[in-house]
Amino acid sequence: MSKTPQQIALMAESGRLLASVFGYLDRLDLLGMSTLQVNDLVDNYIVGELKARPASKGQYGFAYAMNTSRNEVVCHGVPSANDILRDGDLVNFDITLEKNGYIADSSKTYLIGEVSDQARQLAQVTYEAMCKGIEAVKPGARLGDIGHAIERHARAHRYSVVKEYCGHGIGREMHEPPEVLHWGKAGTGLTLREGMTFTIEPMLNRGTEDVRTLRDGWTVVTRDGQLSAQFEHTVAVTRDGVRVLTLRPEELHLSRISA
Ligand code: MN
Repeated sequence: MSKTPQQIALMAESGRLLASVFGYLDRLDLLGMSTLQVNDLVDNYIVGELKARPASKGQYGFAYAMNTSRNEVVCHGVPSANDILRDGDLVNFDITLEKNGYIADSSKTYLIGEVSDQARQLAQVTYEAMCKGIEAVKPGARLGDIGHAIERHARAHRYSVVKEYCGHGIGREMHEPPEVLHWGKAGTGLTLREGMTFTIEPMLNRGTEDVRTLRDGWTVVTRDGQLSAQFEHTVAVTRDGVRVLTLRPEELHLSRISA
């Protein structure tokens, strides 16, 4: 489950490239674009500019470079020419990138145009919850500490935490052990050790935590149709803390806990 420093260096390179994909997305005018257009731009950027591979393409039979999850879509949304980004939308772009055999995984929720205060707050608190989870990572801490920190922050703002989907170990494979739950009890679960690499990717809902999968077999939505948001980073446990391998330049507050 643990990686060598050399392997983590390779994952950090994949993570750096993946962070630049979000930098590229930040510069696009997303309003009015279809999620398929966004997917195609990202696919071309990863392959053409970064000389890397979108790891989701072909994995589990998925045909796209990213998942695009808009508004009540919790995760695993499928890019489509009919799925248009409209004023007031929340949309999560979840991307995995492989370079030199190692995979990084990250996602970010974008606010399209003028969004409601409610939507903005959900996105903000979800981001903060992910940060609280990351801050709980250090050698000797337990997996339950991460979930507890996330769930506590969500509950303090009266949001629910999706239970069906979780973070995961990552490396040569997109999904490796362990499962990283976004809820739980502090002081329980696997003890973290230097060299472990995994994702933290909480999904928070305004209403019920219950979800269902649409007939396409991919798209997961909230059961009550209310908004959901998600953020994700890939992290490594360091000698004395945590390093965010997919850190973006604007996330300076997280660089404090990054090696
Ligand atoms: Mn993931």
